[in-house]
Amino acid sequence: MNDEVARSRGVAVLGSTGSIGTTALRVIARQPGRFHVAALTAFANSALLESQATLTNPTFVGLVSPNGVKPPESWRLGAASLVEAATRDDVDIVLNAVVGAAGLDATLAALEAGKRVALANKETLVVAGELAAAACARTGGEIVPVDSEHSAILQCLGRRDRTDVRRLIITASGGPFRTWSSAAIRSATLEDALRHPTWSMGRKITVDSATLANKALEVIEAHFLFGIPYENIEVVVHPQSVVHSMVEFVDGSVLAQMGVPSMELPVLYALTHPERVRDDGVPRFDPVAHSPLTFEPVRLSDFPALSLGLEAGRNGGAAPAVFNAANEQAVALFLEGKMNFADITASIDSALGQLGTMNGKDKASLLAADAAARAHVSRRAENN
Ligand code: NDP
Ligand code: MG
Repeated sequence: MNDEVARSRGVAVLGSTGSIGTTALRVIARQPGRFHVAALTAFANSALLESQATLTNPTFVGLVSPNGVKPPESWRLGAASLVEAATRDDVDIVLNAVVGAAGLDATLAALEAGKRVALANKETLVVAGELAAAACARTGGEIVPVDSEHSAILQCLGRRDRTDVRRLIITASGGPFRTWSSAAIRSATLEDALRHPTWSMGRKITVDSATLANKALEVIEAHFLFGIPYENIEVVVHPQSVVHSMVEFVDGSVLAQMGVPSMELPVLYALTHPERVRDDGVPRFDPVAHSPLTFEPVRLSDFPALSLGLEAGRNGGAAPAVFNAANEQAVALFLEGKMNFADITASIDSALGQLGTMNGKDKASLLAADAAARAHVSRRAENN
């Protein structure tokens, strides 16, 4: 190992073949000497994973589901490879860009090992926010958000104490159906839902942005990340996705963080926080080109997934885990063409009605609630 590599920090990129994962590899490649790829994992995309491994030369490569393909012998296979990647000695930062609750064990294991988790996998905090916070308190591990809204809030907060905060204002693009009538939204197709106006992302989060379930996940994520009560977190629609979020302080001052809609900066900042480093690859902001900036209230009655998620957050226990798992299962069925758009939210509502009071006192009970919610949504879809 040369001196430069010895000083550079090892990053495990979990979910390296996805939208955030590939962005992260670009960002890391622009910071030689500061960061290097120590580990990579993917679910099934072995061809892309192999070319990424050739380019970045990590010490560990994990593939969850080889799907009949014969991967190189040095690779570790199976879901446990995520935890292995996240806890290696040569890994300083775990960039968790896995989609869904499948990323939970790796986040918790990395925090238990005292590492920094650069967290895109917001589902982790929704399912087990209290367990993650407890792990951080025990070990000195830390979570730095990759989600653009939370990165914005972190940047606005700086080193100020949370008692200085009156309100977090989380912005939402409004998704592809922001201006659609209620009836049109109910009959939206998969193709409609996948056409996001401002962000290019993986399929699951793109659908979450169409139902606004994503904003509910983000409010719960913000609650756990920053320790702010739900009644002090608001959502406002901002169609241009330029103001990434705002923090109102007790004296009435409001700070906002802005930039072009790109995940390059949030990914970079999650690695470097609280420092800033030069990166000419992050797209530059031109205020005139991005004018005008507008804000609107959320049409809550047309996007009921948001209110359902907020209520689940406020109720606590296993309710957020049920909300998340029901949403994951319903979106998976929608993506397979086995459920219609309106039924995603109806499935979440039904799962919360049946299972929302399950207890969430430990990981086993949260996982039981997660499994029950998935089974509930599948059964409901078969009977419809
Ligand atoms: P993608 O679907 O593009 O990528 C998901 C990645 O996770 C892929 O590498 C995939 O591997 C892997 N993966 C999928 N399922 C599993 C599993 N069960 N076990 C292990 N690995 C798995 O998703 P995104 O990059 O869009 O999103 C990732 C996370 O980041 C999500 O939590 C999302 O909410 C969050 N996020 C994303 C943003 C974005 O701009 N995309 C913005 C903010 C947050 P394979 O390719 O082999 O299937
Ligand atoms: Mg976001």
